[in-house]
Amino acid sequence: MNKLIELIENAKSIAITGHVSPDGDCTGSTLGLYNYITENFEGKQVKVCLEKPSMKFSFMNGFELISEDPFMEADLLVSLDASDRERLGSRGVMLESAAQSICIDHHITNTKFAKFNIVEDFRSSTCELLYTLLDSDKVSVETAKCLYTGIVHDSGVFKYQSTTKETMDIAGELISKGFDFTKIIDDTYFKKDFNASKLLGLVLTNAKLEFDGKCCYGVLDYDTWSKYISDKKKMDGIIDNLRNIDGVEIALFMYETAKDEYKVSLRSINKNVSSIAATLGGGGHIRAAGATVHGKADEILKNTLLPMIEKELNG
Ligand code: 5GP
Ligand code: MN
Ligand code: MN
Repeated sequence: MNKLIELIENAKSIAITGHVSPDGDCTGSTLGLYNYITENFEGKQVKVCLEKPSMKFSFMNGFELISEDPFMEADLLVSLDASDRERLGSRGVMLESAAQSICIDHHITNTKFAKFNIVEDFRSSTCELLYTLLDSDKVSVETAKCLYTGIVHDSGVFKYQSTTKETMDIAGELISKGFDFTKIIDDTYFKKDFNASKLLGLVLTNAKLEFDGKCCYGVLDYDTWSKYISDKKKMDGIIDNLRNIDGVEIALFMYETAKDEYKVSLRSINKNVSSIAATLGGGGHIRAAGATVHGKADEILKNTLLPMIEKELNG
């Protein structure tokens, strides 16, 4: 028996959490584990404590029960898809209030912040790693839908280098449970509403190339993006469009979250962007990383981001 299952068996009340601004992998792994526990273990009180994910994930069973508040009475905390304590936001206090804690994650920058840590940075996604810890015969179609969504999102629909034969095998086992995977991929990964699509167009129109076209970057200030969308999660995917431009090796997208505060996303074809993000106090994976930075966009770009990108391109 692995440590996760042993801890679940010994716990009466369980809090499941993940990182702030939950994405498909974070939402899928937390709700996937929630469904697995409620379906296979009797008499456990289980709560998913998470910032509210995008409504596009509301098809996942248990979505409406997600609460932003910490579950202070839980005796076990399971953290999924979060690389460090700060990524848990206000839910980090459960690391102290729960008698036991386990962190399950695939970020190269993971700090092993829980009492027990299962970190495998070669995994496409936390959902893939989580599946290897579960009894596949006991994975229901509801759990499968959650885990499949996470694998799809973090592997860029089975395209990123982190995708392995095992990723594909697991995805195959999941779809054999029987659900409309085409709809999940279309509705949660590719579709964008009209205004979010226009905003993408605006970013691409104003994007700039640097370093012989090896770097492409786009910037949005708060007033600009908030004219198009109210939910910042609708900017997901903009970075991939910058990365997909011919000749680009590192793509950068930054948008203003508060006065002089920017969320930075970095993507690369082969270069290491996790080290750039880590230098800025963020983290992530070799080819996909992010951070939050403070200051004026022009100055951050000129003094910090572009020099670091140039160094990485030449390194
Ligand atoms: P994204 O650019 O899509 O927000 O994030 C890309 C990857 O970097 C994800 O794996 C995400 O978890 C990680 N990441 C993004 N922002 C941060 C951050 O501020 N801190 C840390 N530690 N990781 C981040
Ligand atoms: Mn994530
Ligand atoms: Mn992930």
